[in-house]
Amino acid sequence: MERYTHLQNIQSDIISDKISLPQLVEYYLKNIEDKKHLNAFLEVFTEDAKSAAIGIQQKIKEGKAGKLAGMVIGLKDNLCYKGHKVSASSKILEGFTSIYSATAVERLLAEDAIIIGRLNCDEFAMGASNENSAFGTVLNDADNTKVSGGSSGGCAVAVQADLCLAALGSDTGGSVRQPAGFCGVYGLKPTYGRISRWGLIAYASSFDIIGPLTKSVDDAQILLEVISGADEYDATSSDKSVDAYSQASVSGQKLKIAYIKETIEMNGVQPEVKTNIEKSIQQLRAQGHTVEPVSFDMLDKLIPIYYTLTTAEASSNLARFAGMHYGFRSSNAHDFESTIRKSRSEGFGPEVKRRIMLGTFVLSAGYYDAYYTKAQKVRNLVKQKTDEIFSQYDFIMSPTSPTTAFKIGEKSDDPLAMYLADIFTVHANIAGCAAISIPNGVDNNKMPIGLQFMAKSFDESRLLAFVKNFGSE
Ligand code: GLN
Repeated sequence: MERYTHLQNIQSDIISDKISLPQLVEYYLKNIEDKKHLNAFLEVFTEDAKSAAIGIQQKIKEGKAGKLAGMVIGLKDNLCYKGHKVSASSKILEGFTSIYSATAVERLLAEDAIIIGRLNCDEFAMGASNENSAFGTVLNDADNTKVSGGSSGGCAVAVQADLCLAALGSDTGGSVRQPAGFCGVYGLKPTYGRISRWGLIAYASSFDIIGPLTKSVDDAQILLEVISGADEYDATSSDKSVDAYSQASVSGQKLKIAYIKETIEMNGVQPEVKTNIEKSIQQLRAQGHTVEPVSFDMLDKLIPIYYTLTTAEASSNLARFAGMHYGFRSSNAHDFESTIRKSRSEGFGPEVKRRIMLGTFVLSAGYYDAYYTKAQKVRNLVKQKTDEIFSQYDFIMSPTSPTTAFKIGEKSDDPLAMYLADIFTVHANIAGCAAISIPNGVDNNKMPIGLQFMAKSFDESRLLAFVKNFGSE
């Protein structure tokens, strides 16, 4: 079976009888089995996927199939899918089955996508290497001693290793883009509010957004088109009309692109990552675009803002996991208080506990203004400064991450070093705007390098059209 990178090719090969959808599903199921050691899937929906393939194959033949017919997709284990388990890769949701589907998931199914399983991630999407999962680390398929990135590590590796065509992840501070960069696939973080968060297990609600990981820009476009749009179940979902992303074009347009000087000059950027972006800048200039350095003197504020605000939001969002209504309950508990205390102590992993404690601290009386309020103010400043750049430039480029995928275990004892892996990605979540990581070559050890482009809010159409042209003009 061909290694498909575009849904369109799958669809045309099914129509011309070159392959059938049941065969394609068998192919992915076999790959999943062969690559079990990567630990990308927490559960495979084998029977569901097989029977959906038969039905959708028929619909394709009758010309009645939806836009995503032929797409076999995996879901990060923080997206609810009715009747299926979901755990956020945490022990605390042990045994929990979703009683409804996320809006994005419903929209996938309505267009005939096949959901093949749920994918490993950092616990409650907190992490940058997938080492925080209660179900083990995900291995990078380019080098099994290296991390996949996180928190959507299972998604990135599943797409990288051709275990499915695409995956839906979530991005609170880089969790779609950073693993996409580490694994050599596309990872899109749409504008905050573009996609409903209904059915996405909340980490930090003013940052969280669902995003696709794909092997092509075309598939990111079609997925975004299907899952975006207003939703009465999420008051923060935007009612702005959804563009026909797959039809957008910027070809022939000469664009203005800024790159943030500090992201290249900063200590700690791997030399090959630096030369990689410098080469891309030259390439864009050779294509007639204007690419200019800008200074963004708030780079060192991004990680503190991100961790102050997201931990505050997480401490509130995660209060519901108390061993009372669902999920894990400690067998050592004997009354109301010990049920909550012991279930949470035994159910959450160390990183989640660290963040709940940090978040509780920054929200506590006496510290609230010094930390939480201040971080909100600085968040606004970052938004303003970013908007200023966007008033003069179409896109902002930077490396997706300072380094390529690092060794498993290398940063796991040093939370600060791990947090710095997100320094370039958290910017878009703090500002709320759109961003994408595209695969852009490899380093000396053949590890993928990601390149990030940020666009103003709701400018996904041009962003996607632009990156599609990048390199091919
Ligand atoms: N790595 C970041 C963190 O640990 C981002 C996570 C995310 O985007 N969900 O919080």
